[in-house]
Amino acid sequence: MTEIRFHGRGGQGAVVASEILAHAAFREGHWVQSFPFFGVERRGSPVTAYARVEEHPILLRTSIQQPEIVVVLDPGLPRVVPVTEGLREGGLLLLNATHPPASLSLPPRARVALVDANRIALAHRLGSRTMPIVNTVMLGALAKVSGVVGLPALLGAIGENVPVKVPENQEAASEGFAQVALEPGIPGPAPAPQGPAPPVIPEAPVATIPSSTLHTSTWRTLVPSIHLDGCTRCEFCWKFCPDDAIGLDEQGFPHVREAYCKGCGICAEECPPKVIDMVPEVA
Ligand code: SF4
Ligand code: SF4
Repeated sequence: MTEIRFHGRGGQGAVVASEILAHAAFREGHWVQSFPFFGVERRGSPVTAYARVEEHPILLRTSIQQPEIVVVLDPGLPRVVPVTEGLREGGLLLLNATHPPASLSLPPRARVALVDANRIALAHRLGSRTMPIVNTVMLGALAKVSGVVGLPALLGAIGENVPVKVPENQEAASEGFAQVALEPGIPGPAPAPQGPAPPVIPEAPVATIPSSTLHTSTWRTLVPSIHLDGCTRCEFCWKFCPDDAIGLDEQGFPHVREAYCKGCGICAEECPPKVIDMVPEVA
């Protein structure tokens, strides 16, 4: 059985990616399973989705703790989410990135593959500059480096399951397939001594805590830059920000509360004179 875990942010299509992968593998005659795990259901928040591909009926109903393959749809996620947790020895980590993150915790003999999915998605007009929809690009790349499904089955599954921009998504998947590259310079650490498999830790219930304690800025890859010289003080950004991350000064000019801004881009979309730019976060 091949177990795959997808990490993305709300709006990037991680859940749909796991579903399309399952449909593609089903077209090739495999037994499949796909399901999501949502933390906070909001655009920009981390989302995990799972897929299993097997030659026999799948009776397991648990989330995937020790995947063979991890697919990361957002370049900033490895900074805030332990994406390689549980990745099996010799496993595959596929990243939407132009270069590997500075620090990666990898199991022995793990392989790392990179694809610039943001650029490819935007070239095919999938999503927006603030939130490129990269799922089909990542699936094309996954088909190439893992072989878990073939490209024809994947393109067929995209044709059946993507509601809009089907040709664009199929072309993006083909481009992901063509452009993904395995990183030669990232060997995993030396093999660990073989011992009993680590225990599977059951998922804990989710606690409710005050939103003021959630510094959701760790989610973001883009941050608003407000050009106050064109600001009409309409307060739209302040009203529409879902995280109360915009404050108003005594004259009514807005400023960003950096600790709470998650980079969703809603303020930039809603600003009538378009004086808010979403700019890359400086690491
Ligand atoms: S300030 Fe803008 S980008 Fe940040 S959370 Fe609020 S709406 Fe989203
Ligand atoms: S929405 Fe735009 S114009 Fe209105 S207060 Fe915010 S920055 Fe200024």
